Amino acid sequence: SHLERVAIDLGDRSYSILIGEQLLDAASTWADLPKASAALIVTNDTVGPIYAERLQAALAPLYKQVHTVALPDGESHKDWQTLNLIFDELLGKGADRKTVLFALGGGVVGDMTGFAAACYMRGVPFVQVPTTLLAQVDSSVGGKTAINHPIGKNMIGAFYQPQRVVCDLDTLQTLPQREMSAGLAEVIKYGPIADMQFLDWIDANLDALLARDPKALAHAVKRSCEIKAWVVGQDEREGGIRAILNFGHTFGHAIEAGLGFGEWLHGEAVGCGMVMASHLSQRLGLVDEAFVSRFTALIERAGLPIVGPKLGADVYLHHMRVDKKAEAGEIKFVLIDKPGTAIVRGAPDALVAQVIDGCCE
Ligand code: NAD
Ligand code: ZN
Repeated sequence: SHLERVAIDLGDRSYSILIGEQLLDAASTWADLPKASAALIVTNDTVGPIYAERLQAALAPLYKQVHTVALPDGESHKDWQTLNLIFDELLGKGADRKTVLFALGGGVVGDMTGFAAACYMRGVPFVQVPTTLLAQVDSSVGGKTAINHPIGKNMIGAFYQPQRVVCDLDTLQTLPQREMSAGLAEVIKYGPIADMQFLDWIDANLDALLARDPKALAHAVKRSCEIKAWVVGQDEREGGIRAILNFGHTFGHAIEAGLGFGEWLHGEAVGCGMVMASHLSQRLGLVDEAFVSRFTALIERAGLPIVGPKLGADVYLHHMRVDKKAEAGEIKFVLIDKPGTAIVRGAPDALVAQVIDGCCE
């Protein structure tokens, strides 16, 4: 079956993203990784029972020892206590500083495994094996790793790049539909910020994507990864252009924080947040009404909410001001400046409040 390869160019930390079917079991998927005597598969108690045995079997010829640790599933477990389970396993098995970690799961497992790899003996190699659409198109690529703190999401972490990202499209077949839609939000995101042709393609192939057609998924994951690789290759640590990847995330963060994290999925909040950001772009004269209505219709068709929770504009503004991305209390919005290009800028509170009131019920 067809294999796509996307390169991420970061000098001596460059790596490949492999995208295709049946990658988990293929020996070639795992060839030429750093040599080591041991590997640790980090997964969770939902994904592990479905896929860990296959990965274990594929890695067995390469390492003397292959261990697996299954973390409790859920964003609420993306914390110190759960991170420690990885270190307990590594130290308990006497793992040395060449041990390779494999993150088998969604973004939560990927972020935690990456952070554990950055910290264990001051850094061991790790491989991302993302099994959600969101993780395949976004979180597994680019080297952001973190755990949550009770005071804020992803507040404790490191930039630490994987050795390889392996996107086995077959794993998406077992994903709950709500998670598929949430992942599609991050796929759709890449269109208006970087490539309107891709947005046209998503529009034309949305039904195939929702039905998890492997060819459609292959293209969506590949193009998303190409755009993310292009952005991260220019700005690994988000000093500038990488911020455009936060399109929809400022409003989305306010929805997640305002409702209490976990009420809406992250991708759902981002979908609705992108609708709000499009409206704000229109109010500022950057895009026309036709763009906003077409974009909103696509978000809705993807199974994502287009109307925000009625928390009140003040609550939204409060959460947007304390977001990690705000600078000295000034809210930075990623806006669409002619479709296919994003800009990062502020906007008057009164205008933002009007957009929120118009988008919520
Ligand atoms: P997740 O990891 O919680 O996975 C969603 C659910 O799907 C979980 O219950 C999981 O067990 C289950 N699951 C995963 N793969 C499955 C499969 N193949 N079949 C059946 N069930 C499966 O959520 P997510 O959306 O993948 O990731 C969200 C996390 O990613 C958040 O913590 C977020 O902060 C982080 N994130 C990080 C970055 C980054 O750049 N590092 C970017 C975006 C998001
Ligand atoms: Zn996101």
